[in-house]
Amino acid sequence: MDTEKTYTLADLKVWDYSGTALAVIGQPIKHSLSPIMHNAAIEQLAQSDPKYKEWAYFRFEIDPKDLPDALELFYQKRFLGLNLTVPHKVMAIDFLKVISDSSRAIGAVNTLKWTASGYEGFNTDGYGMSKGIEQELGKSLNGSDVLILGAGGAARAAVVECLSQNAASIRILNRSKDRLDAMLSSLSDLKGFECILPIQAKEDLSNLPETGICINATSLGLNEKDPLPLDVTFLTPQWSVYDMVYNPQETQLCIEAEKLGCAVKTGLGMLVHQGAKALEIWTEQTIDAQIMHNAGEKALNNQVNQ
Ligand code: NDP
Repeated sequence: MDTEKTYTLADLKVWDYSGTALAVIGQPIKHSLSPIMHNAAIEQLAQSDPKYKEWAYFRFEIDPKDLPDALELFYQKRFLGLNLTVPHKVMAIDFLKVISDSSRAIGAVNTLKWTASGYEGFNTDGYGMSKGIEQELGKSLNGSDVLILGAGGAARAAVVECLSQNAASIRILNRSKDRLDAMLSSLSDLKGFECILPIQAKEDLSNLPETGICINATSLGLNEKDPLPLDVTFLTPQWSVYDMVYNPQETQLCIEAEKLGCAVKTGLGMLVHQGAKALEIWTEQTIDAQIMHNAGEKALNNQVNQ
């Protein structure tokens, strides 16, 4: 079967791949790097264990209205693992019987594993983010003052990860107050919630600590002409900036923060590590994230040159 093709619900209905199938599902999905990254890691696994020669990772474009039927079919067709991306991460939670504690707290899943009693849901985004920050910025969330931009699904994963890593403080800035309030109320039972400081006014930004980690979890930066998600002059050069956006590989936020002297990184590392963790969940093997990184980076560079 062709792992570069984008499959649909109609293809799923007549699916007859005999090997172990994995897939990412979303809408849009055509430019997802996940198939390339995962198939590179699977190819490496197959070098030491021939059973992985029968494994393959596919991509499916699924409309949100078809998600319940699609999940039922993926389960019947015994897809061992699914990655969920925009816009399915929150919706899918309603169709799962077993969900990891952190996914429940985040309110979203990005990884499903087939079990005899149904798909089990996980969320590996927070893990991916903290690994990306550790390995590519050389910073640890533990004990750090963190400023999170955004209050959507990725921001929620970021906040839950910062809480679990015992960040010193977590400031959150979001455009719409409603979404920020909804996020705060759903996280209010979590341990350490008192270290969350919503940014309500400009003065709150003027009083940022001298050093910290700023994480962009808004969708600003995906398009070249997007405004900045933050006026970077609020940061000192001692701040580091992690932008979850990975395509383009250089975002305006990182460019401007770097001019100030901040250490900066965009989110390919996060994408890679959330994917590697998902593959570990499915295979119960240690995955070489570098192989996935190289494959993802190469694909991004090819997209730019097309
Ligand atoms: P959501 O749609 O759930 O949230 C989007 C967020 O962006 C909201 O906080 C929204 O604010 C904010 N936003 C959107 N447009 C604007 C604007 N014009 N001005 C100010 N704020 C705006 O998306 P996700 O949380 O799923 O994803 C967020 C980003 O993280 C995306 O860029 C995504 O690609 C990236 N991501 C990267 C991953 C990786 O592995 N590197 C993994 C997951 C996500 P408001 O509430 O006001 O609408």
